[in-house]
Amino acid sequence: MSDSPLIEMKNLKKWFPIKSGMLSAVKSYVRAVDGVDLSVMKGETLGIVGESGCGKTTLGRVLLGLTPITEGSVEYNGIDIRMMKNRELRKKMQIVFQDPGGSMNPRMSVRSIVGEPLIINGMSDGAELTKIIGELLESVGLSKNLMTRFPHEFSGGQKQRIAVARALALNPEFILLDEPTSALDVSVQAQVLNLLEDIQEEKGLTFVFITHSLNVVHHISDRVAVMYLGNIVELSDTVELFENPAHPYTHALLSAIPEISVEDSDERIILSGDVPSPADPPSGCVFHTRCPIAKEGVCDVEIPTLSSISGDHLVACHFPVEPGKSLPIVN
Ligand code: SF4
Repeated sequence: MSDSPLIEMKNLKKWFPIKSGMLSAVKSYVRAVDGVDLSVMKGETLGIVGESGCGKTTLGRVLLGLTPITEGSVEYNGIDIRMMKNRELRKKMQIVFQDPGGSMNPRMSVRSIVGEPLIINGMSDGAELTKIIGELLESVGLSKNLMTRFPHEFSGGQKQRIAVARALALNPEFILLDEPTSALDVSVQAQVLNLLEDIQEEKGLTFVFITHSLNVVHHISDRVAVMYLGNIVELSDTVELFENPAHPYTHALLSAIPEISVEDSDERIILSGDVPSPADPPSGCVFHTRCPIAKEGVCDVEIPTLSSISGDHLVACHFPVEPGKSLPIVN
């Protein structure tokens, strides 16, 4: 991993309007991403983890330029992505989705699926294209002889390999992996993760890996960003985060995985209440309505900023949990 950022998100916001009435007046906003400052370093795998609805998928779509930015910016190699042409962005930044089958046209052969980005970018459909498609398939562990087949003839793991081959077709520098293994059988998940690690090392790629699974980020990420209600609440290198989690929310997530949990007890920390609506986030710290150690008069009033508690370990909490300490179990 290099010291220079490939992608920098600055005060990034994505709010979706909620409209009502005859004139479709904007009533309020769903704050899916609400002021994220985050850099992705060249050559790293940055895991973004959080429960469903925390805004991680929206964050991924905004950083790829697939969804317009409400406020703030995303810079790619120092250039605001809004200044870049869509075709230029797609050459540099690619995505692999959760459901490989759903992202493929069932009537297209594997050759057409993998070759499509190349044809869109000007390569003619001939022997050279066939050769490149064959090489791409072999680079993800599939035989080039399979290129005449159709998606329904493949297993979930094989389809995800085809999706990775397509993402690699334009030689991107960056790939966003949005829950790429969560639709796969556990036995196949490890194979796909290992394939991604091998490809990253071979091609020097930068990955952002979005997932709800701490087990997966533990396996694949160099650094981890924990997201809650549109905000990054903790950011650290993976070893530090799993050994010394500091945000109460990270503690709660980790307690669900006994084999890597740091809590004294094997009991899972059950957070009280539901995740608040991103259309009406709580005042102060957005986690205060569920936090077992929230302090009235502070946490419900003052917004904590993401700040360093030790080196590159950042946390957004007024009372971060000290290393080696655990959270009270509240059932
Ligand atoms: Fe909990 Fe307060 Fe820290 Fe928020 S700021 S996580 S409410 S202790």
